[in-house]
Amino acid sequence: MKIHEYQAKDIFASYGIPVPAGRVAFTPDEAAAIAAELGGKAVVKAQVHVGGRGKAGGVKLATTPEDAREKASQILGMDIKGLTVQKVLVSQAVDIAQEYYLGLTMDRDARKLVLILSASGGVDIEEVAAKTPEKIAKVHIDPLIGLQEFQLKRAIFRSGVDVSKAKEIKGIIRKLFTCYLAIDASLAEINPLVVTKAGEVIALDAKINIDDNALYRQPELEKLLEVGADMDAIEAEAYHKGIAYVHLSGGNIGVMGNGAGLVMTTMDVISRAGGKPNNFLDIGGAATTEVVENELMLILKDPDVKGIFLNVFGGIVRCDMVAEGI
Ligand code: GDP
Ligand code: MN
Repeated sequence: MKIHEYQAKDIFASYGIPVPAGRVAFTPDEAAAIAAELGGKAVVKAQVHVGGRGKAGGVKLATTPEDAREKASQILGMDIKGLTVQKVLVSQAVDIAQEYYLGLTMDRDARKLVLILSASGGVDIEEVAAKTPEKIAKVHIDPLIGLQEFQLKRAIFRSGVDVSKAKEIKGIIRKLFTCYLAIDASLAEINPLVVTKAGEVIALDAKINIDDNALYRQPELEKLLEVGADMDAIEAEAYHKGIAYVHLSGGNIGVMGNGAGLVMTTMDVISRAGGKPNNFLDIGGAATTEVVENELMLILKDPDVKGIFLNVFGGIVRCDMVAEGI
């Protein structure tokens, strides 16, 4: 489950990670009022569950409350990667000296957590990762042992961050680690982690994904689930129709099968053969002809889909009915 930047920043702040002051606004007037509280100069940021908002025009600096109202009216209603902006975070503008990247996630191959730190953070981190991966330090952490001092040192020295800020950065990593475990995160990311011109180290952006399988023991976080914002338009339609569908980006082969295990295996086989699955869709055991038809139409909503791979196992669902649906 994804949550918004303003929600993630509240969580980070509760673990002692420094974040700029700010609040969420639903209207341009609210944005102007918050900017006035912050002293006039503010940054207005689209709150949608995708990254790359800066490049999409969803992050704008405002110099006065009036300007914040104007910037908020430009951003509210904006479409960013298929999601409509319904709220903005208005936060204190920061004078940036350095932009770093800090993240914690799971490395399933290593069966460990991985701490990622780089001095080359900011909006071009994907390009840094692709072209100069040596600029990104990755340190694995055994979840049973926990975060060790030597791992912090290793990350600091390999990442190229300003070592005179090592104490502050290490403190933030420790807090991020504690937070990550406590909230059952699958990803906690600060990009950029900035050094301000005044020399402070603060989290200018915040991204947290929560492990869906842990939501049963995170009732406070479960309340943050937003249908529509947490999924794209096709996924939202699937959710409302009760269809087990997950959209993947960059794929051109629609996938439909019965049984989650069989569908996942089918996706793996397609990938292994060099194909790119566009989605996961589990027909389900109690499907009717009409359901199968609806499911196929749903897969075809993405114009990237150039073909559909069907893998139907007889016995769970009646194959003649699936055939009729097709
Ligand atoms: P993202 O593009 O969705 O990751 O959004 P970010 O919150 O990371 O913002 C994108 C970029 O906007 C950052 O990398 C900064 O360069 C810039 N930015 C965001 N907030 C501020 C701010 O308070 N002051 C300045 N000068 N730049 C900011
Ligand atoms: Mn960012």
